[in-house]
Amino acid sequence: MGSSLRIVNGRVFDPANGVNGAVRDVCIQDGRIVADVPADAKKIDARGQVVMPGGVDIHCHIAGPKVNLARKVQPEDHRLDVHPRTRFTRSGTGGTVPSTFATGYRYATLGYTSAMEAAVTPLGARHTLEELHDTPVIDKGFFVLMGNNVLLYRLLQEGRREEFRQALAWWISVTKAYAPKLVNPGADEMWKGHRNANITALDQKIDSFDLTPRRVIAAFIEAANDLGLPHPVHIHCNNLGHSGNFETTLETMRVAEGRRAHITHIQFHSYGSVAGKSRDNPTSRARDISEFVNTHPNISADVGAVMFGRSTSMTADAPLAYMLRQFSHGKWVNADTEHESGCGIIPFTYQDRNYTNALQWAIGLELFLLSQDPWRMVFSTDHPNGGSFMSYPRLIRLLMDREFRKEQMAKVNQRALEHSGLRDCQQREYSLYEIAIITRAGPARLLGLAQKGHLGPGADADVTIYDEDDDKERMFSTPRYVIKDGELIIEDHEFRADHEGRIIHVAPDYDPDIERVIEPFFEEFYTIRFANYPVADRYIRHGQVVPTAGQSAPAGR
Ligand SMILES: [Zn+2]
Repeated sequence: MGSSLRIVNGRVFDPANGVNGAVRDVCIQDGRIVADVPADAKKIDARGQVVMPGGVDIHCHIAGPKVNLARKVQPEDHRLDVHPRTRFTRSGTGGTVPSTFATGYRYATLGYTSAMEAAVTPLGARHTLEELHDTPVIDKGFFVLMGNNVLLYRLLQEGRREEFRQALAWWISVTKAYAPKLVNPGADEMWKGHRNANITALDQKIDSFDLTPRRVIAAFIEAANDLGLPHPVHIHCNNLGHSGNFETTLETMRVAEGRRAHITHIQFHSYGSVAGKSRDNPTSRARDISEFVNTHPNISADVGAVMFGRSTSMTADAPLAYMLRQFSHGKWVNADTEHESGCGIIPFTYQDRNYTNALQWAIGLELFLLSQDPWRMVFSTDHPNGGSFMSYPRLIRLLMDREFRKEQMAKVNQRALEHSGLRDCQQREYSLYEIAIITRAGPARLLGLAQKGHLGPGADADVTIYDEDDDKERMFSTPRYVIKDGELIIEDHEFRADHEGRIIHVAPDYDPDIERVIEPFFEEFYTIRFANYPVADRYIRHGQVVPTAGQSAPAGR
């Protein structure tokens, strides 16, 4: 028993299957794409419209303790941006950090059907899953913060590589996460032990350990590859936001030595410095970073573009939050989570006349325009850090429409443009095919989500249909239809149904004996008992386990 649907006459953009704007039918049966459906199936006539897989956000911050903290410190956003209920959907609040319900609905109104929360402490997993459960329509999962974990550092320091790998698998498995995340590895020990200190180089000694960020990064890359995780280690490099940090980023990518690694919000890690000038004068080194990524197929990245206007900086990088706070002069929160991570929240406004902000904006665009492989340099604003996900349509227009881009460039700080290479890559315009890669097919492939980001038989029936429009911002702001798991959620730009998306996670196998290594550490240092730490299965009411390379795919969902 199920519903069937045939979408006819639309121009289909399905890069994973090599379909570039051909007019062809897309058929849906019981929540999946199929080759054909019976003649009496319901039809959508998509003449004059563009059909794409639902959008997949590889990196955003939408749920969990730090997101909730960001909501709490900005009550004015709730008042100014009310998201009213409709006959089918629930109410919420917006701003740069929308409430759970508004997050799901607003992603859907842009044609996005999947999103990954990018930084959750293991201790925050339960809270995060509860919020993700309350985030409607989209499928979602989270990356778990492992790069400053004290017990993993101890194992690594003592050369206990097999136990390190087993412990990593255990942590990912018991928190029901999707991938391991590193944030400024090594920095938390400095931050905890010294006044406002940070780690600044890959070969610097990590406080209290005989370790360096280089060794930590290499160990995680190796372990994640050995575990066969569908997405490799997701790395927020050291020195985020600092002038001259591009060298750290290049070094970090070299550590991978041909193994898979994903560098996130790489825009924030592509800064040079004006020779001989103070550290506060960043320049663009997007060209060096692009060249490296272009020529190293094991490396992937998301851009983390900056968009002008309000944002909220929220990060597990505590020293960075402290630095940003010196620029914003507004509200600010810094917090630590036991042995697991730090965190900081700062409401922030990117201004087009500001040198640094305009440079960051330009570097994001440069990285897109210099990329030779859209499958490996994918779309993100690190929502809400570089800008809200609601700014995605505008960013798409900046990539697709060089006249619009020129107009915008005329409005920003011109000295910043001189220190970027944006004027040198003015000719390029992204095609709809390339947009479909960077916002859907690419992120799905990098995440290892075989059923997402494409419209071939067997794929999840997550489909977005846009009216063709020369104004690409308008086009991508208001899809005519959004279909999730085969269900028509948005029709003629209006919600027609509510929907509960799935929690996507992995469950890598581990040797149960590793618990004998982990448990004593808990009893000694944690506020929570070991037995209460793993997240119970009931926290995933509607979920999907994505198999590792060594596990066989489960039957059905
Ligand atoms: Zn992020």
